[in-house]
Amino acid sequence: MIKFEIIKKSKKSGARLGLLKTPNGLVETPALVPVATQAVVKTLTSEEAKAAKCQILIANTFHLHLKPGEKIVKTSGGLHEFMNWSWPLMTDSGGFQVFSLGFGHDLGVGKVMGFFPGHKGAVIDKNAQPKKVRITSQGVFFKSPINGEELFIGPKESIKIQEALGADIIFAFDECTPPFSTYEYVKKAVKRTHDWAKICVDVHGNPSSPRLRRARQALFGIIQGSKFEDLRSESAKFINSLNFDGFGIGGDLGETKKDMAKILSWITPNLDEKKPRHMLGIGRLDDMENIIKSGIDLFDCTVPTHYGRRGIAFTNSGELNLNKSVFLKDKKPLDSKCGCSVCQNYKRNYIAHLVKAKEITAMRLLTFHNLYFFNTFVESLRQKIKNNQI
Ligand SMILES: [Zn+2]
Repeated sequence: MIKFEIIKKSKKSGARLGLLKTPNGLVETPALVPVATQAVVKTLTSEEAKAAKCQILIANTFHLHLKPGEKIVKTSGGLHEFMNWSWPLMTDSGGFQVFSLGFGHDLGVGKVMGFFPGHKGAVIDKNAQPKKVRITSQGVFFKSPINGEELFIGPKESIKIQEALGADIIFAFDECTPPFSTYEYVKKAVKRTHDWAKICVDVHGNPSSPRLRRARQALFGIIQGSKFEDLRSESAKFINSLNFDGFGIGGDLGETKKDMAKILSWITPNLDEKKPRHMLGIGRLDDMENIIKSGIDLFDCTVPTHYGRRGIAFTNSGELNLNKSVFLKDKKPLDSKCGCSVCQNYKRNYIAHLVKAKEITAMRLLTFHNLYFFNTFVESLRQKIKNNQI
């Protein structure tokens, strides 16, 4: 079971400094939760992820259910042992994948509208159904992207899969609505998410023996409601009323940083402040300070790893695109202020060469540096809270 302690609350903003204790160690919050979709931070070993200052990772329930299947993971001793990661671990609920396979796939969109300005005309109305998945009050029917087999995941199935995987923190099954959904559609989806949340709490249960309670995985409930004030605050109140150990904030958060702060301000006042709050799928460098100031403790994001694999390094002086030939003559480290082992040992010229030669080591070096850089950046934000700067 987890224990969450708030060490300091900022006087300047909603930011909080905390300590999240899990059966597999501590997480200093606010913290970035790097993504380990297939039980691996792509290109790195678990030891390397730890050396890049990752405190906690999030693996993907949907993908691990399809491959290798939760039974294999369970009989291998659970996710921690399976992937040799003996630190804190989360799994998501699979809800977001419903969205990506469904409307997200149909419309070619992610949850951040700004990335896809060409799709502003699309509308998802009350009785809409995506092409590849069928959403019902029980859960979601979909075709396996691996062999086309008809599969089903509902709240009960999601919890059972996550229990078998064995992460420290698991999430309730939810429906993540796409950015263009109408009020009526989101209202229906929020109702489904709430019904499913109740089932998740019941299925996960609360064992009576102290030993089992200590070992129990923490369950976070997910707040939806898109960009609609009444739905967001209703969802926050409802999820807060159930017996969850923490909260996830999912779904569309508007188009601008201002929208995001506004939407968070409808949510956080309705949440028990003693429980940790995780923001799902948001954590670009320039968003971090704002979401932390809004009282968020944890956030997962694919940016450092995803961009690393595409040849992009994040540095104190901005992003570097190592695909550019100019870096072949550049003898500086990626970032002269960075203390990571890549910046101590390699130069931009060599990494640019590896990127151009499509060598796997390029992805490894950039992924390592980017994670170290992001985690160090969040560390500096924790220090700012300590020093009353934010
Ligand atoms: Zn570095």
